[in-house]
Amino acid sequence: MRKKVKCPYCGYEMPIFYDEKSVCKGLTIRCKGRNCRREFEIKIKAK
Ligand SMILES: [Zn+2]
Repeated sequence: MRKKVKCPYCGYEMPIFYDEKSVCKGLTIRCKGRNCRREFEIKIKAK
């Protein structure tokens, strides 16, 4: 099942998908939310 990356500040759903097997750290993106635009690091841990 695919999940979307959400901004931790405003909850905006980024057009970036991952699944349960994804592992990610050290990847920084900028939020596309209209009033947010903050940068945050995507951290996805394997379960
Ligand atoms: Zn945001």
